Amino acid sequence: MRAVLPFLLVLAAALVLPHVTNDYWVLIATRAAIYWVLVSGLNLVVGFAGQLAIGWVALLTLGAYTTSVLVAGTVTPAVPPLLALGAAGGVGAVFGVVVGLPALRLRTFYFAMTTLGFATIVTQVALAWQSVTGGGIGVAGPVLPAPFDTSYGFYLFCLGLAALCTWMTANAAHSRFGRSLVAIRDAEVAAESIGIAKAGLLVTVFLFSGALAAIAGGLFATLQSYITPDAFTFDLSVLFFIAILIGGRGSVLGPLLATIILTVLPEFAAPLVAWSTFLYAALLLVIVLAVPGGIAALLDLGRRRPLESNRAIVPRPELLPGILDHGRAPSPILLRGVVLSFGGVRAIDGLDLTIDPGQVHGLIGPNGSGKTTTLNVICGFNAPEVGGVTLDGAPLLAGAPQTRAARGIARTFQTPRLIGEASVLDNVMVGGTIAGQGSFVESLLRLPRHHRDEAKAREAALLALRCVGLEMLAPVRADRLQHSELRFLEIARALMLRPRFLLLDEPAAGLSAEEIRRLGGLVTAIARCGTGVLLVEHHADLIFDICDQVTVLNLGRELAAGTPAEIRAHKEVVSAYLGA
Ligand code: ADP
Ligand code: MG
Repeated sequence: MRAVLPFLLVLAAALVLPHVTNDYWVLIATRAAIYWVLVSGLNLVVGFAGQLAIGWVALLTLGAYTTSVLVAGTVTPAVPPLLALGAAGGVGAVFGVVVGLPALRLRTFYFAMTTLGFATIVTQVALAWQSVTGGGIGVAGPVLPAPFDTSYGFYLFCLGLAALCTWMTANAAHSRFGRSLVAIRDAEVAAESIGIAKAGLLVTVFLFSGALAAIAGGLFATLQSYITPDAFTFDLSVLFFIAILIGGRGSVLGPLLATIILTVLPEFAAPLVAWSTFLYAALLLVIVLAVPGGIAALLDLGRRRPLESNRAIVPRPELLPGILDHGRAPSPILLRGVVLSFGGVRAIDGLDLTIDPGQVHGLIGPNGSGKTTTLNVICGFNAPEVGGVTLDGAPLLAGAPQTRAARGIARTFQTPRLIGEASVLDNVMVGGTIAGQGSFVESLLRLPRHHRDEAKAREAALLALRCVGLEMLAPVRADRLQHSELRFLEIARALMLRPRFLLLDEPAAGLSAEEIRRLGGLVTAIARCGTGVLLVEHHADLIFDICDQVTVLNLGRELAAGTPAEIRAHKEVVSAYLGA
């Protein structure tokens, strides 16, 4: 309820506005509502998925022309305006994907440049294709049927649509899709390891965002009543983009307020029209420098109560059977004859390794001996030149890390990879992404399967947090946690996959002696539930205390393998590595 209140206030203000001001302000408010229809969708692309789509005005242009031309009936038989608006949404969806596709290959500025390039192309086509668009002379915008043909009626229409968009994008944001987008933005490698298929998710979001932008374009053409290519300026595109930055990424309310502010600002600054671009720039600089989290962070300040400083992590391994209840037939992960080089360096040099279910398998060796690379081969991040990995008699394909989660393999990272801006609970819930069954549309509309997915994921995440001893921190932002807590948090996220195999990369690094002891108890209990654990560690005590099997690597090769007692007695290991 507390989260919905600000939105209701904005809506109430918007409904009251026409009764307390004049037509001019209704016009401005209509414009803000139309911009928000576009920005709300773009927010999922920029604010959540972190893709720098700065040329999104292209889709507004496309939608404006599609609607206008269809309604004018110069090319096709005349189409009723509302139908034309829907058709524009369809065209926008297709081109949203076309503009977005480069994001699967290109990063940051390179992708930004392609969206700008597309915006230029659309404007140039609109100029050149005179028989359809009227070229530089332009084309008349559509007029909506009654009761939306008056300025007040049209305002209510746009407001209703804007409210619908707010509701849908907020629903998406608070679903497994929204969490996955943020994971792709802030922890891409971790996102892949929990089975998030980046390509499919981004295409879905580009589709949705493109459709909203084009519908906004149709409304824009209606509002302008006549459009020419120069109505769609680069400034407009910058406004959309900046609204999200100023509003704060990962928020819906922030960009909504920022869109309103940026639309209204030039009106107050009317005497300074020549300065309006300067004002945007100044506002952006102030926000980025003073409050990097944007308006959303400002609104959130009050909720940042200080955390207890001497808090202890007390795992409760006895709860683990509630999560790791997979009764699947035990079968080991097999690495056979794996060879992998980075340039001239042989990181792995003919390694055989068997990771049995229900056991803790220690993997030790000096720095640079290939331990992390071994994990990366199992998880599909590195492709071996020779040899391969199999599970249940089927190969684990190299170069497809997002397939590991479904095969029951979870991992943690040598440097924890978490979403600092998301809560601890969200960080764990994202680990259960692939368990969800509802589609993106079901989440947009809050249909029953969305509710079921959310309830299940939340319950599982709270249980996982209780297992590792972090449930008290569930609502806290992850970037406020201590290092040792991040390590346990990664384990909680990995548990969400109900893994048959759990690969831990130096989980004890940076932990206190007491925390290492508790970690040991937790890892042993995980193995006792039937999960096979591969434990990469430097703490010899921990390894010898809890491992059933130990493999010692040196220069990418197996130096020794056996029980902890055998390894402890191994002459070469003692002299080369243990050094005692
Ligand atoms: P460990 O985890 O045992 O400390 P790694 O598996 O990280 O060792 O590294 C094994 C060897 O491979 C090291 O010599 C390291 O420098 C090299 N290496 C690892 N990753 C890369 C990479 N992405 N590019 C080039 N060399 C790498
Ligand atoms: Mg390593």
